[in-house]
Amino acid sequence: MRKNIVAGNWKMNKNVIDAQQLMAQLLDYKKANATNCEVWIAPPSLYLMMARDIFENNEVGVFSQDMSEYESGAYTGEISADMLQSIEADGSIIGHSERRQYHGETDSHCNRKVKLALDKGLTPIYCNGETLEQRKAGQHLEVVKNQTETALFTLTAEEIKKVVIAYEPVWAIGTGETASPEQAQEIHAHIRSLIAAKYGQEVADEISILYGGSVKPDNAKEIFSQPDIDGGLIGGAALKLEDFSKIIEGFN
Ligand code: 13P
Repeated sequence: MRKNIVAGNWKMNKNVIDAQQLMAQLLDYKKANATNCEVWIAPPSLYLMMARDIFENNEVGVFSQDMSEYESGAYTGEISADMLQSIEADGSIIGHSERRQYHGETDSHCNRKVKLALDKGLTPIYCNGETLEQRKAGQHLEVVKNQTETALFTLTAEEIKKVVIAYEPVWAIGTGETASPEQAQEIHAHIRSLIAAKYGQEVADEISILYGGSVKPDNAKEIFSQPDIDGGLIGGAALKLEDFSKIIEGFN
């Protein structure tokens, strides 16, 4: 059975005091409340070791927001899969649209990163999604197909089962505009059917596909109720426990 997951991508927000405070609040919340989904966070890399210490019993999954496609060496500013493994991080977001937009990341980079993460025992959260222009041109299904195939379809069935996919339409990220539950469901079902065609239905049914893009306390429940939506990758609303906890409760 695939997992329900609510993951918070903190992006480039919070100083160390504020980061520690939110992690501590989240730990208290997790101890006091049984949740019907896994809860993960991706804080800035600088705070990953602190996150691992705070969530020492895996109450909350600890993910980086990106990792290098290279194993080690002269890649200034990068963090490696080995480093993540060595601090017992759970995995990494890979291919977020902001990495694609501002850092020239492509699906070929993502393919190498996803494979390296899996080789090191890390869970990749692979992000895809179309731009507004692509949606307006009616290309969204094709764009997501190409992204999924290029980044993931060199994996074996055993490998792809361990990947979490996050569909994040670029036009819905940080804009307050959300894909309707039906629009999101259409793409999630599409992604699952692509995986089923290549790897079989059983494999496709095991993969958690998250939706990301302006998920808020007041729309989470409806989005999560769609049959092929297994949770969310949350940006802005993951920065306050009050909002993030209400989104987690979208699974109650
Ligand atoms: P927002 O929830 O702020 O739209 O961000 C979504 C996102 O990019 C998560 O990775």
